[in-house]
Amino acid sequence: MALLPILQYPDPRLHTVAKPVKVFDQALQQLVADMAETMYDAPGIGLAATQVDQHIQLIVMDLSKEKNELLVLINPKIIAQSGSQEYEEGCLSVPGIYENVTRAEFITVEAQDATGKSFRLDADGLLSVCIQHEMDHLKGKVFVEYLSPLKRNRIRSKMVKHAREIERNSY
Ligand SMILES: [Zn+2]
Repeated sequence: MALLPILQYPDPRLHTVAKPVKVFDQALQQLVADMAETMYDAPGIGLAATQVDQHIQLIVMDLSKEKNELLVLINPKIIAQSGSQEYEEGCLSVPGIYENVTRAEFITVEAQDATGKSFRLDADGLLSVCIQHEMDHLKGKVFVEYLSPLKRNRIRSKMVKHAREIERNSY
């Protein structure tokens, strides 16, 4: 297993639209394992393949306290949604930024697991928010794009400045 580098906003590769997964081979199992390790190490509760520069429709998540309930969503589709909820979101690609985003409250998702088996999942609360956040990544969308242009530009310059500081401090 290996830790994968996580793309940082405003990296343009975060705006790549992911392609459906067609082959459920050993390379895919390896990517799932590496993404899970990367997410747990970060630490985060969700990670989309887009964030590790792999542009396929793959998401890993784990909302459990013990970090032992890995959820893998491949080729996810929201087939029903209702209600709305506001939640303070963060993102491994936009570290240190937490902002409120309004999304659907209840969703029903159809997806495949790492072996290609289809399943259906009803989600609400944080699970629903997390799935919608990660599915946005697969569409090339980062959560800060829900904010006002003013707020987004402020975050963008902060992130660029932060990246320059990291460069300065590494030898
Ligand atoms: Zn994110």
